[in-house]
Amino acid sequence: MLIGNYTPSLVLISVFVAILASYTALDLAGRVATANGRATYLWMSGGGLAMGVGVWAMHFMGMLALHLPIELVFDVPITVLSLLIAILASGFALWLVSQPRLPMLQLSFGALIMGAGISGMHYCGMAALRMQPGIEYEPARFALSLLIAFSASAAALWIAFRLRQQTPHVRLFRAGAAVFMGMAIAGMHYTAMSAATFADGSFCGAIGNGLRVDGLDKLVLIASLEVLSIALLTSILDARLESRTAELSNSLSVANRELTQLALHDTLTGLPNRVLLADRIEQAMRTVEEHGGWFALMFMDLDGFKPINDAFGHHMGDQLLREVALRLRNDMNGRNTLARIGGDEFVLLVELPERDEAPAYAAQQVTLLSQPFLVADNSVQISASIGIALYPGNGETQHELLMNADAAMYHAKAAGKNGYSFFDASMNTNARNQLQLLQDLRSGLKEQQFCLYYQPKFDAVTGQPIGAEALLRWHHPLQGLLLPDKFIGLAEKTGLIIPIGDWVLNEACRQMRVWHTQGYSHWRIAVNLSALQFCHTGLVDSVANALILHQLPANNLTLEITETTAMSDADASMAVLQQLAEMGVDLSIDDFGTGYSSLMYLKRLPANEIKIDRGFVRDLEHDSDDAAIVSAIVALGQALGLRIVAEGVETDMQQSFLTKLGCDSLQGFLLGHPLPAEKFMADINAAETPVDEQESASEV
Ligand code: C2E
Ligand code: CA
Ligand code: CA
Repeated sequence: MLIGNYTPSLVLISVFVAILASYTALDLAGRVATANGRATYLWMSGGGLAMGVGVWAMHFMGMLALHLPIELVFDVPITVLSLLIAILASGFALWLVSQPRLPMLQLSFGALIMGAGISGMHYCGMAALRMQPGIEYEPARFALSLLIAFSASAAALWIAFRLRQQTPHVRLFRAGAAVFMGMAIAGMHYTAMSAATFADGSFCGAIGNGLRVDGLDKLVLIASLEVLSIALLTSILDARLESRTAELSNSLSVANRELTQLALHDTLTGLPNRVLLADRIEQAMRTVEEHGGWFALMFMDLDGFKPINDAFGHHMGDQLLREVALRLRNDMNGRNTLARIGGDEFVLLVELPERDEAPAYAAQQVTLLSQPFLVADNSVQISASIGIALYPGNGETQHELLMNADAAMYHAKAAGKNGYSFFDASMNTNARNQLQLLQDLRSGLKEQQFCLYYQPKFDAVTGQPIGAEALLRWHHPLQGLLLPDKFIGLAEKTGLIIPIGDWVLNEACRQMRVWHTQGYSHWRIAVNLSALQFCHTGLVDSVANALILHQLPANNLTLEITETTAMSDADASMAVLQQLAEMGVDLSIDDFGTGYSSLMYLKRLPANEIKIDRGFVRDLEHDSDDAAIVSAIVALGQALGLRIVAEGVETDMQQSFLTKLGCDSLQGFLLGHPLPAEKFMADINAAETPVDEQESASEV
């Protein structure tokens, strides 16, 4: 038997190469696991190649470390085959550990294949010597070498699978595992080598056309180290790049989240906005469809928010809105949604196990918001009007549900605020009717469907007519004659009151010009102004133009503005009224007694007349308070040198009482209804004609 001996330095180098190959393999397994798409296959084939070369180099170095007393030459094709086996087994191992899961069965099967691969490479490599006679293997050691190959493969696969994620200290773990794996691979090799016996007189069959050993060790070493370090370096650089990309994509997703937050939330309160609300409503609709139950959409509008905003400024208004949001949110349970969809409009989406829980919930919100708020050290009192739409029942789409809840909210406002209303179909018709009416109003203005009725005013003492109030009427093509309460509110809301008001002013002046010419030059025509007209910058010009156009002296025109309008922005009103007064226009404070008049302002206003609200006149006979108020107003007006007019006089008793109190003039159904100009004049003429003339006329 030939006795071989090993060159220790080459043995050491072979073990080192095994460890390095193991480390590279573990690192590459990490790359394969985190790469995606085509990169996975690139890493797998490149990795398989590098690792295969590494393992094979270890084995080959181990063979070169062996010295037998005969010359050793390697058969080239068989050697290449052994390298191929190593590469294939490595590629397979990488593929296996890149799978999402690695159950026991798969692991054992993989270990079997990989173990067979490594052993196959080794014994194939040995066969490349083409020894004559063949190498004999000692069965026990041969079996042991297979066992080591198998278990080292199993351990390697398991470790590689475990260490493939990028976790802290993963490199350290990999280094430890690589040492273990390298030793195992080397252990397998040297166990297998020790199983081999070379019979005396054996010789290498490959001599002649094989690879000679001289210098081969250095070549293999350098080549394999090169392959391994290139693979390792690429892998490390790529990992860096990947972690940098991960960092970038992380900050990108943070930015994305912030953008989404901005796009879907209200910046003032941080609550969901209309867009997100729509989404949540749709989600809630799906939930109800799948699992049953109900949800309520509560449309909340704050009562009295605008005056607070106007009086204390936007900063305070914003603060109040935040407080409202906070209070509502604190009261809410997690599955409901609170959104802010407009200035002082909030919407609460509430999931309900039972439909009849909605009223209690709504009442709770009303109570919650009617408690005072503390805003910048001020106690502020507001309330809320809530409109409720239920699903299923009050709409098929999120849009419809919101519209209906909105309509119900208007109903709650109209019903006195600080409360809630459930939607019902009639509210929708109302909204639709309003829309139709608005269209009609626009065309009504174009097609001159408006006209003025005139209600006479009389001197309280002499009973003589002293003029008329012009009252707007609309000949609606379908609905007939409409009174102002049907359309003035809508005209004010939409701004149409400005052109309509101009028309009224012109028409009233035109009519007064006619009467002026007929000899009633001492009359005054009274025209009502709404708040919006009064605030409109063009008012003074409009009035001046109307007077000039109809050549009417300014003093033949009385402008009636309500007390509330005159007082709401007293300083601005003062300026406008001053200009009108300077023109010589007569000014009357309408509906006096219903607002909160400050006597101070009243004194400064350049008004000529106050008009006692007809509410006081109506209850004069039954309510002693009203009688006291009316006499106080008369006394006040007299003290300020103003004319006092009472409107809404319907009975003889009211007439005589008001006359006795000292009212200057009277207006009301008792004395004359509003009528078109001709009928109005017919009545006046009839009253002026002496009684006996009337009788003789009827006799004719
Ligand atoms: P107002 O200025 O207080 O006008 C008096 C209203 O009381 C008129 O109703 C008149 O028909 C009614 N009235 C007169 N005498 C009596 C009475 O003895 N008893 C009762 N119960 N009512 C009486 P109308 O014409 O329906 O006008 C309602 C309101 O519409 C007016 O209240 C005024 O504020 C507004 N308005 C009317 N015409 C115009 C206009 O041209 N422009 C603007 N901006 N508002 C107008
Ligand atoms: Ca009036
Ligand atoms: Ca009035």
